[in-house]
Amino acid sequence: MEKTDGLQVIRPGLAARAHFPFFSEGPGGFYLDSAATAQKPGQVIEALRHTLIHHNANVHRGAYRLSATASELYDQARQKVARCIGAASERSIVFVRGATEAINLITYSAQHLCKPGDVILLTLLEHHSNIVPWQLLAKRKGLKVVFADITDDGSLNVADFRQKVEAFKPVFVGVTQLANSLGTVTPIEELVAFAQKHGARVLVDGAQGAPHLGVNVEALGCDYYVFSGHKMYGPTGIGVLYGRPERLEELEPFQSGGDMISYVSVDGSGWAEIPQRFEAGTPAFPEAIALGSAIDFLGRFSRDELNKHEQALVRSALEMLRSEEGVTPHGPATVGGAQATVVSFSIDCVHPHDFATIADTHNVQIRAGHHCAMPTLRRLGFQATVRMSFGVYSCEEDLEAVRLAIREARRMFSR
Ligand code: PLP
Repeated sequence: MEKTDGLQVIRPGLAARAHFPFFSEGPGGFYLDSAATAQKPGQVIEALRHTLIHHNANVHRGAYRLSATASELYDQARQKVARCIGAASERSIVFVRGATEAINLITYSAQHLCKPGDVILLTLLEHHSNIVPWQLLAKRKGLKVVFADITDDGSLNVADFRQKVEAFKPVFVGVTQLANSLGTVTPIEELVAFAQKHGARVLVDGAQGAPHLGVNVEALGCDYYVFSGHKMYGPTGIGVLYGRPERLEELEPFQSGGDMISYVSVDGSGWAEIPQRFEAGTPAFPEAIALGSAIDFLGRFSRDELNKHEQALVRSALEMLRSEEGVTPHGPATVGGAQATVVSFSIDCVHPHDFATIADTHNVQIRAGHHCAMPTLRRLGFQATVRMSFGVYSCEEDLEAVRLAIREARRMFSR
């Protein structure tokens, strides 16, 4: 099967592993922590290496060809990002370090849009990075942060969300597309439209959604969309803030210095056009170019097949966990709700951290803890869970390895 650009389609699962040196040259193993960071395809590693060897000159500065080419490649990476998320214009794409920095940028640069007493509405599904920056903004400006509740299975309580939007008329709403702790998929189109109808600017956290669900920001209509390169098979140190142009125009600069100015005099400075206004200093251009390569790589999969593959893994994981004594899976899919790419669970007599350590002896790299989502776990009555999360290279063999680790852990701890 070929894609329209003539390249072979890559099939998810075992076949995809051939594209990841992690499995052939690196430690390999049953890697089940892609929600934390994904492994890197060879072409991304090569893009980084190639840029550093062949195109290493500072961007947007030099008059010489080397710098012009680096600048061109950096601009092309921005265009690729825009196409990948369906942004109408690359003016909407700000390169940042990651989702965390993007949210910090908004909470800093938009503070003049808030007045004391205003409300920010978040949900109990958010990652700490979509909570703490808002809390700091609230402290600076005398605002109130309110959380929409979740149900006992970890779905968003949409009725509560709607009720809080109507009651508080929040100035900002921050909501995840896909929760990293439980894999909850939120009805994001409905939430964005409802909150905007009541006057809110809506930030969608796409850190998990961008790589695992995909997005079309124009169709979604959100005000801001943020994600990290390293979770979508790109390098660390690069991420994206998408903002509708009029939403970026109204923001104050975040960091300041070189590259974000139109002029500087001893009396003051003027700002560059968006998106450069928010990219002070030398950008991580090799990483941005490598992110472009990760986007090309993801484009070699059929999105439909990828979604089906990850959905099938969630179903198989639930089946496997349910068939093991003393194991309880969590999340909306346990009651037929919308969940993707992440499966959290508990084992009756084994602490999650002990399990992760035992699993490691089986070469299973799995996450244990609060997954930077303490309010989610606390709401459901947990301190910690074990979490497996999938990527394009995940397959049934990974689940069998978890099964063996569960059996060994229970044998050890039920003595
Ligand atoms: N939002 C979600 C849903 C996440 O899963 C993460 C990271 O795990 C983040 C935000 C923060 O991403 P980063 O640490 O790359 O900035």
